[in-house]
Amino acid sequence: MSSTSLATSPTFVNGDVSFWFREVGVPTHRPALPGDVDVDVALVGGGYTALWTAYYLKQAQPDLRIAILEKEFAGFGASGRNGGWLSAEPPGQMRRYAKAHGQEAAIAMQREMFSSVDEVIQVAAEEGIEADIQKDGLLHVATNAAQERRLRERLPSLRAEGWGEDDLIELDRDQLAERVRVAGARGAQWSPHCARIQPAKLVRGLADVVERMGVAVYEGTEVTEIHPRRAVTVHGTVKATYVIRCLEGFTAGLRGHRRVWLPMNSSMIVTEPLPASGWEEIGWRGAELIGDEAHSYCYIQRTTGGRIAIGGRGIPYMFGSHVDQRGETKTATQLQLQTILRQHFPATEGVAIDHTWSGVLGVPRDWCATVHLNERTGLGWAGGYVGHGVTTANLAGRTLRDLILRQHTDLTRLPWVDRTVRGWEPEPLRWLGVRSLYVAYRAADRHENSGLRHTSVIARAADIISGR
Ligand SMILES: Cc1cc2nc3c(=O)[nH]c(=O)nc-3n(C[C@H](O)[C@H](O)[C@H](O)COP(=O)(O)OP(=O)(O)OC[C@H]3O[C@@H](n4cnc5c(N)ncnc54)[C@H](O)[C@@H]3O)c2cc1C
Repeated sequence: MSSTSLATSPTFVNGDVSFWFREVGVPTHRPALPGDVDVDVALVGGGYTALWTAYYLKQAQPDLRIAILEKEFAGFGASGRNGGWLSAEPPGQMRRYAKAHGQEAAIAMQREMFSSVDEVIQVAAEEGIEADIQKDGLLHVATNAAQERRLRERLPSLRAEGWGEDDLIELDRDQLAERVRVAGARGAQWSPHCARIQPAKLVRGLADVVERMGVAVYEGTEVTEIHPRRAVTVHGTVKATYVIRCLEGFTAGLRGHRRVWLPMNSSMIVTEPLPASGWEEIGWRGAELIGDEAHSYCYIQRTTGGRIAIGGRGIPYMFGSHVDQRGETKTATQLQLQTILRQHFPATEGVAIDHTWSGVLGVPRDWCATVHLNERTGLGWAGGYVGHGVTTANLAGRTLRDLILRQHTDLTRLPWVDRTVRGWEPEPLRWLGVRSLYVAYRAADRHENSGLRHTSVIARAADIISGR
């Protein structure tokens, strides 16, 4: 089977939200907002950010009246489509947080990311959410000399940002092969702070839990405008002391928010279950999450059902911050991902692709996530997690709880709180900029694959221009 043609299974699906939802069943909508209502807190969007915020608020103050306003169904966005890395990867540039608030603040942020991974696991266990969670850590794998050097060179700054000796461990080629055999791998870094999850199971489980706690989850309820103390929906207006925007990659669709966060696309494919001989050849017995060090990097998980799910950039951005709704994915993107899959794991040659889908995540202009609450207007938000929202949304939920309940805690002092960032450039600059950036990153990857021993200057230039 050649990598130039797509090998799909007889049950292949393109889009329809995600494979994760296919596993649990794409849900019918909960009832929509019945008309105008008054609440204490209105959460706009029904992904992890809104659900964790609702969860912690209701736990802290059970009599709070909370409404979640979701356009489709809870988990329809990135929360039900992601790669399932419950990781402690920083949701932004730690050097920027450090520059603005000092190194100690950046370290505190990183430590909170570590503990948030365990917090999610613990709550899921306590609340009976079965989401295929297994914490075997995360492998960053280098497959060429430039990637290997990059991995080694970034270690000192990671150590300075709070990654201690036990938080990040260097593996040589043989040590890596004891965990998993990635073709051409030269070495890796392993962190214990990551768990594999099934995203749709986590988000649907959370939605059920908050509903049982008394949170009103209105689905099929699109919010068209947000103002101080009210959210206007297609079914009526919600008056609220606090209106919190939890839309991440969909933020640009809200009137007046087009340039706040860039909706960055990410696409995935999942294989059919691999035969036992394939797993034997790959030698991947645990549930480690795997990422390579390419500039147009990929993220990989072994699913509970013995499949490999792999994601990457595909078409990174659509003109005018347009977002595709149900995740249909272009053939060229599927082919790119299939090629990476076969390169990394030759044992998958002959294993068909069973599902492909895409989603959007939010990227702020300075590539640093933020959480914010304006006491005067009652407006708040969290997001811009730059592809690391699975864990960060939990931290955001606990931070928004403290901000809304006016408690000054370690969380409200973290450097991502109340950070102001300028918006993205108007079109066509935005489209041209992002498109050129990813053309440059792909060119840099090709250079590095052809034997370069250091990071390509093209990638360095692209990083400077993009502000990454
Ligand atoms: C393909 C992919 C892979 C990813 N992989 C990972 C990963 O492995 N690890 C990781 O940490 N992060 C990953 N991410 C990022 C992560 O999934 C997100 O950052 C996170 O889920 C964001 O959660 P959220 O609740 O803020 O937003 P979302 O989950 O996107 O929720 C926003 C919700 O708002 C709803 N909505 C949109 N417009 C409106 C409106 N006008 N009114 C009402 N509701 C509206 C949407 O339907 C959606 O349900 C990935 C993202 C994608 C797309």
